[in-house]
Amino acid sequence: MGDCIFCRIARGEIPCSKVYEDDEVLAFHDINPVAPVHFMLVPKLHLASLLDAGEEHAPLLGKMLLLAPKLAQEQGLENGFRTVINTGKGGGQEVLHLHIHIIGGGSIPPMVRRG
Ligand code: AMP
Ligand code: ZN
Repeated sequence: MGDCIFCRIARGEIPCSKVYEDDEVLAFHDINPVAPVHFMLVPKLHLASLLDAGEEHAPLLGKMLLLAPKLAQEQGLENGFRTVINTGKGGGQEVLHLHIHIIGGGSIPPMVRRG
């Protein structure tokens, strides 16, 4: 996906505030953070969303989930953090390249407010 913004970031064509990089994934701070720490973890492979993931992506997705707490702790979130994956139009996804938001620090409200 040549013009996908996260693909362009992964290729180094658009700058980012990098948290972590290896040959398969990249993590960088969100440009519009919703908490004191807010970064995202993305595969370098273009996958639009979880709706496009298949069995063949299980190792990559597993790697990302296991990497998330390591990076979160390195960013000072030793007490925990929130992970968010918005998926498709129904999930409010704005950038159509799969990404895990990792959010924490300060006061994190309950995810779902009841009554
Ligand atoms: P989502 O709604 O899950 O698709 O989230 C997209 C996120 O990407 C938003 O939180 C944006 O602030 C973030 N974002 C968009 N462009 C950039 C960029 N160039 N660098 C860092 N974060 C970005
Ligand atoms: Zn992409």
